[in-house]
Amino acid sequence: MADFENASPRREPEGLGARDVRLNAAAPRMEDARAALLRYFGYADFRAGQRFVVDALLQGRDALGVMPTGAGKSICYQVPGIVLPGLALVISPLVSLMGDQVRSLIDAGVRGSFLNSTLSPAQQRTVMKRAVEGTYKIMYVAPERLSDPAFRAFVAQVHIPLIAVDEAHCVSQWGQDFRPSYLEIRDFIESLDRRPPVVALTATATERVRIDIANLLGLRDPATIVTGFDRPNLKFGVERLEPKLKRRRIAEFIADRRRESGIIYCSTRKDVDMLAEWLACQGISAVRYHAGMTADARMQSQRRFIDDDVPVMVATNAFGMGIDKSNVRYVLHYNMPKSIEAYYQEAGRAGRDGEPSECLLLWSDGDIATCRYFIEEGGAAEGLSEEEAQRVKSVQRRMLDGMVGYCRTTDCLRAYILHYFGEDASSVQTPEGAFADGCGNCSNCLGDFDTIDVTETAKACVSCVREVQGAFGKSMIADILRGSKAQRVIEAGLDGLSCYNAVSDSATQVKEVIELLAAQDILSISDGTYPTVGLGVRAAAVDQDGFSFSLKKIRRNRPAARPFDAAASAGASAFGASGVGDSDLFERLRALRKRLADAQGIPPYVVFSDKALRDMCARMPRTADEFLEVNGVGEKKLERYGETFLSEIAAFLSER
Ligand code: ADP
Ligand code: ZN
Repeated sequence: MADFENASPRREPEGLGARDVRLNAAAPRMEDARAALLRYFGYADFRAGQRFVVDALLQGRDALGVMPTGAGKSICYQVPGIVLPGLALVISPLVSLMGDQVRSLIDAGVRGSFLNSTLSPAQQRTVMKRAVEGTYKIMYVAPERLSDPAFRAFVAQVHIPLIAVDEAHCVSQWGQDFRPSYLEIRDFIESLDRRPPVVALTATATERVRIDIANLLGLRDPATIVTGFDRPNLKFGVERLEPKLKRRRIAEFIADRRRESGIIYCSTRKDVDMLAEWLACQGISAVRYHAGMTADARMQSQRRFIDDDVPVMVATNAFGMGIDKSNVRYVLHYNMPKSIEAYYQEAGRAGRDGEPSECLLLWSDGDIATCRYFIEEGGAAEGLSEEEAQRVKSVQRRMLDGMVGYCRTTDCLRAYILHYFGEDASSVQTPEGAFADGCGNCSNCLGDFDTIDVTETAKACVSCVREVQGAFGKSMIADILRGSKAQRVIEAGLDGLSCYNAVSDSATQVKEVIELLAAQDILSISDGTYPTVGLGVRAAAVDQDGFSFSLKKIRRNRPAARPFDAAASAGASAFGASGVGDSDLFERLRALRKRLADAQGIPPYVVFSDKALRDMCARMPRTADEFLEVNGVGEKKLERYGETFLSEIAAFLSER
């Protein structure tokens, strides 16, 4: 099956400091890398972004790869690590996951290892001893380890042909997950007798973070690639729902996808606990994960989710970094996150195997208020001057605006995200061609809109703001316009205003009109915890003849009320390729995978990805050679699991 690609390598201009590194004839080349990719990972070829990074590293150049979750960043250093002589070091902040990452490697036949605090001192010594003896090709370490004298002494005894810095955005204070220990990486690299090529990888796309990475890690003229951020297999949806309706919506959503794995993100621990308990009452078993739980409890939740023992994970954003469970079929957001960066990273944990998956964001006004509150009241990062703190806040406000814009837009959601990351959606190719008119696979592209004329309401809003001279927020204005008898209105004498009781729209609708007016600069909404509504620079527009104003609303009154589900319930075929094959067989292979994984104490996705299972269903291999053709089947996998899977498939075929 062809992998759909959309990468646009940006090579540094030739001659601009590009060092001419010639390797001797024995040095590994791209052909060796390609052979290793096939042999150990079962992939016929590199994806464009991977090829670019691997090529740079084999030439001895530093590299910086910015690729979305699911792009296959680990291959970028694992394959060079395999083909280059010596021990490749991988620096990663994800201590709790190193064990899994290494087990995946070992299952593929690669000699991997890790060093971190989950090992006893004696175990650590053994690992280092074996590493010196040349037992391993790849070693994962946490950044804290780099300054440890014992580790430095160990490093001096091995040949290190490559250093990979995973989750490289952790070095930047402008990123989401700043880790001070990442600042030590540069010193470590510079302390080495022979500085090997360094590759930094991240999914964070913003320019500022990218620049920080190159500077703070001390990359030298890195070959840089930013791959397309489109994730064609993800279907995006946004629904505005009052908080009390959200959990019912979530239960409905899960009920239709009971066998699938999914993550639900909430912004607070309290909501995580509430939602997980509520789901349990609905007969949906879910584990939870947040920073208020003990490390043990978190670990256990994570295990049960990764091992497919429990399909649903309810979590705060504390969960997920580095989780490479590839068969997460949906990511729901119970609240709106604080930025598109955060949203895309979390939602992007769906469908890493490239199979169709869904990302649905539920939001309400309260979510925006909560985010505003955290920006204004939340202490900015410690150690910043007042001026710096203000700058950070204004960056955060702008990021929040971007997020709110996503929730409100009635245009293609995918185009919105790509535009946010600086890509022109009309140039993005989909399997069906360019998507100039929308992607056809998001709730806005799939939804029908009703257009409601709200010209009079819009005018009333503007006169009200003029009359109260920008003293109030949205809800108060809605109260005044709707003629509310609330105490706060009457006591302040607002019922005497000429705009009092001027409209008959619902409060929600008045607020939507205000927001839309603000988006068009006719009104303006202030920053701060209690944002007030003032006039915008284009306020005079309402006084002009022919002014008209309308709201677009997704039509919800049809039987298939939710465009998001309507397409999903049409079955996997709505997504094209995944309809191939037989779903009974898929379930059998899935069960077999689970048995094999449990027997070895490894996560099922390590045995085979969902994509590999689907490909087996499509191809129904009968021989070892045919089995090797399956996406994700390398020699080691064939040796390890070939017979078992082939006989399951044969049994299935004979029973038909
Ligand atoms: P990232 O770390 O960038 O989020 P992963 O390394 O988890 O991505 O890889 C995502 C998925 O893509 C994995 O399921 C992996 O097996 C698959 N993959 C990686 N490289 C290739 C390739 N060259 N061909 C096909 N599938 C690939
Ligand atoms: Zn779309």
